[in-house]
Amino acid sequence: MKIAKVIVDVQAKEINQTFDYLIPDKFMDILSVGMRVVVPFGPRKISGFVVGRVAESSFNQLKEIIDVLDITPVLTSELLDLGKWVAENTLTLYITAYQAMLPQVLKSQYKKELIKSKDAELSMGLEHLFAGRDVVAFEEFEHSEIPYSQLQKDIQAGNVSVNYLVKSKITKKQRTMIRPAKEVHFLEEAYIEIPNNAKKQRELLKYFIQHQEPIEQKKLLQTLNTTRSTIKPLLDKFLLETYKEEVFRNPYDDDSFEKTTPLELTEQQKEAITPVKQYIANNEHQVVLLHGITGSGKTEVYLQAIQDVIHKGKEAIVLVPEIALTPQMVKRFKGRFGANVAVLHSALSNGEKYDEWRKIHRKEVKVVVGARSAIFAPFENIGIIIIDEEHETTYKQEDQPRYHARDVAIKRGEYYNCPVVLGSATPTLESYARAQKGVYQLATLNKRTNNQPMPDVSIVDMREELHAGNRTMFSRELKEKMEQAIQRGEQIVLLLNRRGYSTFVMCRDCGHVTECPHCDIALTYHKKSNQLKCHYCSYEERMPSECPSCTSDLIRYFGTGTQRVEEALTQVLPEARVIRMDVDTTRRKGAHEKLLKQFSDKQADILLGTQMIAKGLDFENVTLVGVLTADSMLHIPDFRSSEKTFQLLTQVSGRAGRHKLTGEVIVQTYTPDHYSIELASRYDYNQFFQQEMKMRKTFHYPPYYYLALITVSHQNHVKVVQVTQQIVQQLLTCVERNTVVLGPTPSPIARMKDRYRYQCMIKYRNEPQLRTYIRKILDQYRDEIRKEDVLITVDMQPYHLM
Ligand code: ADP
Ligand code: ZN
Ligand code: ZN
Repeated sequence: MKIAKVIVDVQAKEINQTFDYLIPDKFMDILSVGMRVVVPFGPRKISGFVVGRVAESSFNQLKEIIDVLDITPVLTSELLDLGKWVAENTLTLYITAYQAMLPQVLKSQYKKELIKSKDAELSMGLEHLFAGRDVVAFEEFEHSEIPYSQLQKDIQAGNVSVNYLVKSKITKKQRTMIRPAKEVHFLEEAYIEIPNNAKKQRELLKYFIQHQEPIEQKKLLQTLNTTRSTIKPLLDKFLLETYKEEVFRNPYDDDSFEKTTPLELTEQQKEAITPVKQYIANNEHQVVLLHGITGSGKTEVYLQAIQDVIHKGKEAIVLVPEIALTPQMVKRFKGRFGANVAVLHSALSNGEKYDEWRKIHRKEVKVVVGARSAIFAPFENIGIIIIDEEHETTYKQEDQPRYHARDVAIKRGEYYNCPVVLGSATPTLESYARAQKGVYQLATLNKRTNNQPMPDVSIVDMREELHAGNRTMFSRELKEKMEQAIQRGEQIVLLLNRRGYSTFVMCRDCGHVTECPHCDIALTYHKKSNQLKCHYCSYEERMPSECPSCTSDLIRYFGTGTQRVEEALTQVLPEARVIRMDVDTTRRKGAHEKLLKQFSDKQADILLGTQMIAKGLDFENVTLVGVLTADSMLHIPDFRSSEKTFQLLTQVSGRAGRHKLTGEVIVQTYTPDHYSIELASRYDYNQFFQQEMKMRKTFHYPPYYYLALITVSHQNHVKVVQVTQQIVQQLLTCVERNTVVLGPTPSPIARMKDRYRYQCMIKYRNEPQLRTYIRKILDQYRDEIRKEDVLITVDMQPYHLM
């Protein structure tokens, strides 16, 4: 097996094949599948992944592998296959998928060093290389005569580890440890011999007569209130010795988490967990949709299922939305499973992420809690995969590879024969429809564990406020309730649903929103041309000067930011202390947590924010939740806008009255009759599901149809339209009859970075060859893509239609 098949890191070309390279003798014994290598590629040296070893190649004159970057594989064979599957499904390059599975540190070439483990008995060659040192540069090893296979053996035996140096900063932290070098009676003898006036030395030695275990030098010096000069003579006499120990950067101090024990489950929880436990026990793959209202104890169900998995010696992956990965959330998992938990969070530094990843890679932890990319955790014995808040769109990656973590989870669940649990108070229509059809198993929790009812929601019609002469952003009811809550010393969460603002046009008198006659979607206001446009079918009309419905001239497009709301708040409630949370106030690292801490410490009465405050927060003292403009999201040109509105309102309502105090929710809207608002106020998910499914059916959207979105961009407007048009034409010649191919249509963001953008939307039910067709088209345009800088992106099952 002298030949390696390598996926090379060449992004610019559409290279999605392996290249054969000869394995030089020195790597012959160690090179295995899943390692990264450096290979010659044309005039360049590039990196790549070894995906196979074979005896023969159909090419002659193969070039040799230049270097091996990993001594142990960074991707298992399961992950190599998974990456291939991801790449093929999302129509991207294998290399892109593989790189997405690894921490940043491993995406480029870094200098390496070898670190000797404490107490390790190295093999002869390495003993010689280290020559008493704890750390040596990897180059030294490369220049030595020691075979790679020897190093690999020492690594496998745990004697040596490899460390990647990130930007000349050491990735791994170390600390100096001190311990006795001789048995106690030698120390005792030495103690007698130390002159009485060397007080500190005697004290130090006495310490080690009493404690034989190693201690960090810094701690020791602190404890004995002395300096290193005291230690030195004892080291010189070989009574004590010093060594370096690796410290994993641990962004979460494990000791600081109070240990929790499993709670006695409620009847509903028991019923929900029973099948999951069975699937775990029987090594059976099933997808379970856990539909549980906020506060119904879904997390406890996850924790106890994971407990079973750990008992079986297996591993668990838990995905939570980035924004919900708060210290509160981490605490719940660390509190139960302690140091067995790794956390992968985008707020960690690259070094920290790498450390967490390595804990998983070395099987030092059993559970990973993380955002989307944690789905690629390099576990090899997975017993359960949990996706909390499964409806969150952040589980879909919006860059290549455009994968959905749910799909990857199910793929891995099938491979490991383990259950996948999707939890949500407001499941996606896709998932709920699958549960209805019996493709997923449905489990329901419809009671809160504290037996409190969900807070009452009252809908305020903002049109009436206007008619009553109230032109502020706060209805009379909301203002009054806020005053009362503040007087009682209780707290308030105010949500400004900002997404989609300033694009849609609405009549402030009657709430009429101008929609496309063909698409049932709000038209978008284009200021420059003073036109209203549809982003799905290219329909457009002039911005009306009066409301087409009631002829009022109060027809406006909307624009309000959190900052303006804050200003308005101080006018209406001058005494209220407000914390504003939005992209601006949370940009700095740690700012998000700091603000939340301030709020939970009751340093403010009102937490005002965008979407980011709706998720997973749990404050005892919050009794009032206000939603300033429930409908702003309804008019985004997105067929999921009703679903997103329903989800957001349900989520934010769940923030109130989670503890002893009962809560109340006030929803301000200009469209009080819209079913998503009305049904969210009654927490009626089932009715919402029925109604929304009808819409989806009528307008040919998921879950009845699958979608694919092809976006073309280029500096030249004509060129973009032309290319998109050709793509549409070509697709039309090959797709099934009931497949709909729409376009060319300008993208909702029609020009970005000076490039025009057009799209082609494909709606299909059964189109097994679609990826092949699209790939063929992409191949056809390869030259144009390169020479003329035409950019074509493909998004299978898009969530973001911009
Ligand atoms: P969800 O994730 O469904 O929103 P949580 O898991 O946060 O719900 O549970 C809400 C609260 O109920 C938490 O404070 C949790 O500790 C508590 N809880 C969960 N299960 C039980 C139980 N079986 N008995 C008592 N309290 C519980
Ligand atoms: Zn009107
Ligand atoms: Zn339209």
